[in-house]
Formats: sequence, structure tokens, C-alpha cells
Amino acid sequence: AKATAAATAKAEVGRATWTLLHTLAAQFPQKPSRQQQKDARTLVDVLTRIYPCGDCARHFAELVKREPPVVTSGPEFRRWLCSVHNRVNSRLGKPTFNCDLVESRWSPLGCSPEEDDAGELGAAA
Ligand code: FAD
Repeated sequence: AKATAAATAKAEVGRATWTLLHTLAAQFPQKPSRQQQKDARTLVDVLTRIYPCGDCARHFAELVKREPPVVTSGPEFRRWLCSVHNRVNSRLGKPTFNCDLVESRWSPLGCSPEEDDAGELGAAA
């Protein structure tokens, strides 16, 4: 029972992390600033060290070393993330995700300041 609970928690943290990463990528700008590019690289780099499942983190570190993050534009970052997620899928015996569908699977939250102005707030008024 203990092993099952640990496996469930591991899968949940995995899903939560991919959700965060893909949602963030969905909102990653077409033309990211230097700082935004640095932030994306740093986030990935930090995950390779402090991701809460040690084996996953080590494997992810090797993966990222072979395929460094491409952060030069939103579409390129999304493609990179889809590709590394697929490498993890393959390793775990899960089906590969069709990266052409990534933009319909993962959407921006629509709560960036710009969108709040034109979107939610506007709609509520
Ligand atoms: P997940 O893989 O969590 O995916 C969530 C959803 O994302 C899917 O339902 C699908 O709709 C969508 N999706 C799937 N593939 C893609 C893709 N390529 N691009 C875009 N969207 C996609 N678990 C281990 O047991 N061992 C490991 O070594 C390991 N390493 C991991 C490393 C990292 C960096 C992360 C974030 C997680 C890791 N995990 C690992 C967890 C594992 O990847 C899964 O999150 C977990 O097994 C739950 O899988 P799931 O089937 O619910 O779907």
C-alpha cells in the first residue's frame, strides 16, 4: 500500500509539473526578452536539480544536457517541451503525444495583465 501511495504521488507531481510547464509555455511570448529567455532556461535547469523525485531529476538532467531548452520564441519553446515530454513518455512506456496538437491541448490562462484589461474585466463590466 505504501508503494502504491508513493507511485500515485509521483504521478500526481508529474502531471502537476507538466501542467505548469505546458501552460507556461502556452503563454511564452512570440518574442521573449533576454530576461524571459533566461527565466525559462533557469526554471528547467533548477528542475533538473530539485525535482522532488531524485531518479526523475537525474534522468531529466541527462535529457536536458542532450537537448538543451530552446527559448528563442514561444513556438520553439513549446516544441522543445513537447519533445522532452515525449522522451519521458517513451522511457515510461507511455504513448507519444502528437506535437502538432500541443497548442490545442494546452492554452494560456488568459490572466496576464494585458488580457485582463481586454478580457475578463472587460467581459465582466
Ligand atoms: P503526463 O505525462 O503527466 O502528462 C499529462 C498530460 O499531458 C497528458 O494527459 C497529455 O494530455 C499531455 N501530454 C502528454 N505528453 C505530452 C507532450 N509530449 N507534450 C504535450 N502534452 C503532453 N515519472 C517516472 O515514473 N519516472 C521518471 O523518470 C519521471 N521523470 C519525470 C521528469 C519530469 C521533468 C516530469 C515533469 C515528470 C516525470 N515523471 C516521471 C512523471 C511522468 O512524466 C508523468 O507525469 C506521470 O507518470 C503521470 O503521467 P500521465 O499519464 O498522467 O501523463
